[in-house]
Amino acid sequence: MLIKNGTIVNEDGRRRADLRLEEGRITALGEELVPENGEKTLDAEGYLVLPGGVDAHVHLDMPAGEIRTSDDYLTGMKAAVLGGTTTVMDFPEYGDGETLLDGLDRWMAKAEGRSYCDYSFHMTVSGWDETMAEQISGIRARGLLSFKAYTAYQDDIGMNDVQLFRILQCMAKEGTLLLVHCENGSVLESLQRQLKAENLSDIANHPRSRPNLVEKEAVSRVLDLAALAGAPVYIVHVSTREAVEAIWRAKRAGQRVYAETCPQYLLLNEEKYRLPGFESAKYVLSPPLRTREDQEALWEALRDGTIDTVSTDHCSFFYKGQKERGLQDFTAIPNGIPGIENRMELMLTYGSRRGFTLEDIVRLTAAEPARIFGFYPQKGGIREGADADLLFVRKTAPRRIMMETQHQHVDYTPYEGMEIDWEIAQVFVKGKQLVRDGHWTQGAADGRFLRV
Ligand code: MN
Ligand code: MN
Repeated sequence: MLIKNGTIVNEDGRRRADLRLEEGRITALGEELVPENGEKTLDAEGYLVLPGGVDAHVHLDMPAGEIRTSDDYLTGMKAAVLGGTTTVMDFPEYGDGETLLDGLDRWMAKAEGRSYCDYSFHMTVSGWDETMAEQISGIRARGLLSFKAYTAYQDDIGMNDVQLFRILQCMAKEGTLLLVHCENGSVLESLQRQLKAENLSDIANHPRSRPNLVEKEAVSRVLDLAALAGAPVYIVHVSTREAVEAIWRAKRAGQRVYAETCPQYLLLNEEKYRLPGFESAKYVLSPPLRTREDQEALWEALRDGTIDTVSTDHCSFFYKGQKERGLQDFTAIPNGIPGIENRMELMLTYGSRRGFTLEDIVRLTAAEPARIFGFYPQKGGIREGADADLLFVRKTAPRRIMMETQHQHVDYTPYEGMEIDWEIAQVFVKGKQLVRDGHWTQGAADGRFLRV
C-alpha cells in the first residue's frame, strides 16, 4: 500500500513524503512514490502522520486482592489502539512458591491472541534470595530487558533496601533496567494506621497519608542505591516537584536515570479529593494527585529533559462495586485509574497548548520509550524498515471526553468533560488499518511479544 501526501512527523522534524507499506513494514519513504502494478493508494492530505504511541506502563487483567482490573487484554488493547497507542508494556507478577518464569508464562498466556498490537513486559521482582540472579538471567534470555520493583506495599510486594540493592546489582551485571515505584512504604503505612486510629477514614486522607516527601525520600534513596550498585534506573510515575529536583540533580551529576510521568499528574490535581460523596474514589491512585505547583514542575521537567517519557499507568477499576469496597475505609479503595485510551489525545491537545511541538510529543510518547526499552528503530519512528505503526492525526473542533463514548471497560473516566481538539483519525498497526475515521474497523488480536 502507498500512503500519499502525508506530513510525516518524527521526533527530529517533519517532512512531506509518501510511504510504502509492505508486509507490516515501511519499505519506502520518499517524494512522489509511484504505485506499482495495482498497489492500493491512500491519500493522507490534511493529516499529520505520526509513529504509533508506546505506552510503557499499563496494568491489564491484573489481580488485586480478591478482584481484578476491569480491563483485560482484549478491551485494554482495543482502547489503546483507538487512542493511538500501538505498543504496550505490562507488568507480570509471580506468586508465593512461584518462580519469575512462572509469572511471566502466565502473563504471556494472557496476552497471546488477545492483543491488537505488539507488547512487552517489565518483570516484577518482589523479593531477594540466592536464586534470583539466575532467575533474572533466565528472564533476560526470554527477551525481556526490564524489571519492576516497589518501595511501597511493604506488607505485600514491596522491597526493603537490601533486597532492592541486591536486585540493582543484578541489573548492573545483566545490563538490564529496573523500574521503581518510589514511595516510602513503611512511613506511608504508618501514616495510614495513625489516620485510621483517629477515625480519619474518608478519601481526603488518601493524599494525606502519602505527602510529597514520601515520594521524594524514596526517589532520592533509590537513586543513591542505583548509583552505589552502578546500575541505571527508571523512576515511574513521578508526581512531585521535590522528586523532579532530585532526579534533575542526579542527571546533572551524570547518573544514568530515566524518569516517567503520566497525564493524570500533568492535568489533574488534588482538588479531585474534595468532590462530594464518594466521587473522589475515582481519583484514588498512588502516588496521589498533587498540587497545581507540582503540575507546573512536571511540565517544566518534560520541557528541560528531566522527565523522559509520558505513560499512563492505566489500571482500571469499576467505580460501582470495586472502588466502593473502600466506602468505609480509604485504604480499601483499589488504587488506580484508567487512561490507556486518552494519552495521545491529551498530550496532543494539552502539550500543544503549552507550546510543545508535535516532534516533542512524539519523542515523549513514542520515540524515547521505544529507545529506553530496546524497540527503537523498529518502533517509535517513521523510517524505512520500521514497523508500519502509524497514526493520522489532525486538529479539529473541540469535543469532550465522555465515559459514554469510551472503549475502556470501566464505568467512568477521570477526564470526564475535558476538552480535546486533536483527532486520532486513522490507526495502522503493522500495516493494517484498525481504526478508520475514529472508528474500530476490524482486527485480529494478533499482536506479538516484542523480544529484545
Ligand atoms: Mn505504581
Ligand atoms: Mn503501575
